[in-house]
Parts: sequence; C-alpha cells; structure tokens
Amino acid sequence: MRMNFGLTVRSAQGRWSLNPYHRRTHGSIGLFVPPSPPLDPEKVKELQRFITLSKRVLVITGAGISTESGIPDYRSEGVGLYARTDRRPIQHRDFVRSAQIRQRYWARNFVGWPQFSSHQPNPAHWALSYWERLGKLYWLVTQNVDALHTKAGSRRLTELHGCMHRVLCLTCGEQTARGQLQDRFEGLNPTWSAEAHGLAPDGDVFLTEGQVRSFQVPSCARCGGPLKPDVVFFGDTVNPDKVDFVHKRVKEADALLVVGSSLQVYSGYRFILTAQEKKLPIAILNIGPTRSDHLACLKLDSRCGELLPLIDPH
Ligand SMILES: [Zn+2]
Repeated sequence: MRMNFGLTVRSAQGRWSLNPYHRRTHGSIGLFVPPSPPLDPEKVKELQRFITLSKRVLVITGAGISTESGIPDYRSEGVGLYARTDRRPIQHRDFVRSAQIRQRYWARNFVGWPQFSSHQPNPAHWALSYWERLGKLYWLVTQNVDALHTKAGSRRLTELHGCMHRVLCLTCGEQTARGQLQDRFEGLNPTWSAEAHGLAPDGDVFLTEGQVRSFQVPSCARCGGPLKPDVVFFGDTVNPDKVDFVHKRVKEADALLVVGSSLQVYSGYRFILTAQEKKLPIAILNIGPTRSDHLACLKLDSRCGELLPLIDPH
C-alpha cells in the first residue's frame, strides 16, 4: 500500500501529545510506527522482573523510540524512510568536500527545522527520565539526534551520534546552538520560501534544485569556516573518546536494555558485544528483529511508549 507522506494533512492521535500545535500539525504516530502485536502480559512481567533484579541498568535507544513522537526512522519495514522513498542520508565525505552539497543540505534543513525541533518526548522518553531520577537507570546511550531525551530531562546521557540542536564549525570547532543559526538563515534569505514535502530522521526535507541554488548559507561567525550539524553523518566515525566512555559505563552496569533499535549500525552494536563479554543480561524492546536477538535473554516486540510506562522502576 502506498502511504501518504504529506505531513500537514494528518492529525496527530498520540494521547501523550502535550502541545496543541504539535497535535494539529504533525503526522499521526501510526504513519511512522510499524505494526506490533498486542501487549503480552507475560512479557511485561518478564521485563518487570528484569528491571527489578537490576540496580544499574544501561539503556541504549534508537530511532524506534522516537517514531511515537512523529519522527520517522530509516529502517522499519514498510514505514521507515528506506521503505517509503528512494532517498538516502547524506554522506559525511560529500558534505565536507562540496559547498554545493552543503547548500542543498542546509536549505532543506532550514525548512525542516521548525517542525523537527518542535517534536516532543513521548511516554517512553519520560519513563527513562523517571528511571534516572529514581537511580535505576545508570546510563543512557542514544543513537538519536533529536534531543528528545534531553527534553524529557535525562542527564546521564551520551548522544552517540551527536545532536541536531548543535552546530559545529568544520574549521575551528566552535559549537553553537542550532536555533541561533535559524535566525542567521532567515536574515540572509528574507524572501526565500519553500514548502516541506516530507521529514526525514535528521530533519531533512525535499526541495527543487532552483530553490536550493538561491539559498544563502552563513559560515562560522568566528572564523568563516563551513558549518555542519554536530552529528555523525553516515560514513563518519564516532569520536573514540566517546566510545571508550560508553564502554566503561557498560562495564559498570549490571544489565543492558535496548529500546527501539535494530542495532544494524556497528556504533551501537559494539556495546552489546561488550555487555556480552561481561555476561550482562540483555533485554531488547524493538518492533521487528534485531542484530542481537540471539544474545538477549528477553525480546519484546512492543511499542516503547506503551510498554515502558508500565514498568515500575522501584
Ligand atoms: Zn569557525
């Protein structure tokens, strides 16, 4: 079945949506969340037992936790971006070598930003933040760049692939807030307008070549260097210090829970291997198979936002 990709014609149905503007303008969660079987009470009990027996849970989250906030993922069967369009994410080497490619990227990113930045955490994000406040969650590692864990109040957090809400200068390394850059874009492009035709996991949208060519891109206010979102693009590698840091947190934890990730990308998968070496119990909550199902003592195919709030972290 061909799915309607228009974001402005659908109304949100998420009962957790707190912002009325968000409810009115964002795609329904059903558009981006793969179908899943009804909650199995026995499985819920098993996850409860897993959490109760753990004192220092390390949680790894992926795109699957944010689909219920209206952000599509890349890989979910039928509903992920790979399944619905022929677009592929930007490659790091292309972004760095070509001003034209950066122009296209930023033009799309500029259009997508107001919507992308307005997404709100869903009950799964809130639940993990609550676990942290109660001392149950030892560390949270996310592969997402949408800042939804931060918005939910999580602090013991490593954003493995960075965050779209920060911008980095490729020359001097200066970090700035993405919101400030939006003001600079608007100042340089006062009459420029474009219509978003769809939203990708990185906040990207679709534009014509003509629209892209006339878009003015600001450079670093300090040194004039090119600007890049502070995220790891495909083909780039995660900072080794960050990887070491997470490996240490995994070794200090006593259980590992994966939430909403198929673990196809090695940058997340390697921590599962470390957990396995340390013989930590591993539970996986993800709709659809993952690369590590055979390593998990518990696998749940449920919506993260439906299941996690049911778990008592005391
Ligand atoms: Zn600079």
